Amino acid sequence: MTASPTTPPPANLPTIARRGLMLVLSSPSGAGKSTIARALLERDAYIAMSVSCTTRAPRPGEVDGKDYHFVTVETFQQMVEAGQFLEHARVFDNFYGTPRGPVEDALASGRDVLFDIDWQGTQQLEQNARTDLVTVFILPPSVEELERRLHTRAQDSAEVVAKRMAKAGDEMSHWPEYDYTLLNTEVDRSIASVQSILAAERLKRGRQVGMADFVNRLRGQ
Ligand code: 5GP
Repeated sequence: MTASPTTPPPANLPTIARRGLMLVLSSPSGAGKSTIARALLERDAYIAMSVSCTTRAPRPGEVDGKDYHFVTVETFQQMVEAGQFLEHARVFDNFYGTPRGPVEDALASGRDVLFDIDWQGTQQLEQNARTDLVTVFILPPSVEELERRLHTRAQDSAEVVAKRMAKAGDEMSHWPEYDYTLLNTEVDRSIASVQSILAAERLKRGRQVGMADFVNRLRGQ
């Protein structure tokens, strides 16, 4: 196996303690974000998905606790009041929110967290967690392609697809609020781009919290 920053190094090599980062992927529905996220999770041992709570009904094949925590509106509101969300928003006709605890644990122990959240949630994270945040906006190559992908997903009714198409323009207008912008023309290229972003962001000096001690030891201090 070739050396790669996405797999653990051999135990006899020095490693630098690192604070984890929050990688946000946003896009209009159907731009290919879920495919990119899935590939990233398969290929990288250091990043895990944040599992959101939602009040929407599960789609066929979706698993509670894996794709989402499916909760009632009442439970969701109690969680909001108890301050259990890092961010939360109403998207389409449902509520979505990111549970705070698992994210804070991961970051403190040097693991990264991947978020599939919309622009409203991203704006809240910008306020609450800017230094931990890396944001990527994914755009479809064309409106026709976006619509085709929404239809071939075949999990939503024609009415839901029409609603998502109508909202795509609004969502796309938020692209300048993100650190990185990606046109998803070829999915393999997009995955490689997100991996490059992640590799560079992990090397940011401020995230390598163990570096000062390491350098002091190198200098014999
Ligand atoms: P879907 O219903 O297709 O799974 O998701 C609809 C939208 O909700 C997507 O744009 C997705 O990024 C967003 N979303 C999913 N989870 C969260 C969350 O926890 N917070 C926010 N703000 N948006 C979310």
